[in-house]
Amino acid sequence: MPNASPNRHRPVTKPEDAHAQVVSTSSSPKLLIVEDETDLVRTLEYNFRQAGFEVHTATSGREGLRIAAAKGPDLVLLDLMLPDLQGVEVCRLLKADPKTRTTPVIILTARGEEVDRVVGFEIGADDYVTKPFSVRELVLRVRAVLRRGEPSSGRPAEVVKLGQLTIDSEAHRVHVEGREVLLTALEFRLLRTLVQRRDRVQTRETLLNDVWGLNLNVETRTIDTHIKRLREKLGKAGSLIETVRGVGYRFGAADESI
Ligand code: CA
Repeated sequence: MPNASPNRHRPVTKPEDAHAQVVSTSSSPKLLIVEDETDLVRTLEYNFRQAGFEVHTATSGREGLRIAAAKGPDLVLLDLMLPDLQGVEVCRLLKADPKTRTTPVIILTARGEEVDRVVGFEIGADDYVTKPFSVRELVLRVRAVLRRGEPSSGRPAEVVKLGQLTIDSEAHRVHVEGREVLLTALEFRLLRTLVQRRDRVQTRETLLNDVWGLNLNVETRTIDTHIKRLREKLGKAGSLIETVRGVGYRFGAADESI
């Protein structure tokens, strides 16, 4: 067990006060935990600090939104059942705000909240974890999601133009006919993956593995939900994502001559 002496002097604080503490250097990933079970908050806070995160906490949805706007977290852990706003609504608001729309959100859900889980993905959550969960596994999951969002270091800025569709991987921006399309971090990754492998069929399993990142207990219909939403957002360019019946999806090359 690593000795955690640098953190040991920190007093145990009430969750409402905890987010005011800036714990580590600016290079630490910033995590916001929105959860009303205070015991769980303390456990998560402790473990993520040990793991080198700067941790902010909120015990209600509105507080979570306020802290997200103020602190600009790198990732949000979001409970679904909150005392004021439901987690689903909090996620929707985070994804609607230009400042936080690309911030990954991991939903914390009680076992059996099947419907909520699907809704969570439909509103742009990047991952979910079912309670009770292993904190160690959650730390790994958070790191995996953060890695997925990192800019591709070393590679030149990549701007792909396919017909009226422009994808700027560096800036995380997508335009269709000159109009910006706002995508969640996960939708962007899904689109970029399909485009990078255009003209090749991608099975749902491949997409789950490469876009969602871990071998999760995610159902393949989750992909269908995201593809549907992505197509809708892309408008005219949405038809470039072709369904290959019984197999998966393929990005058609379109007319690359623009
Ligand atoms: Ca709760």
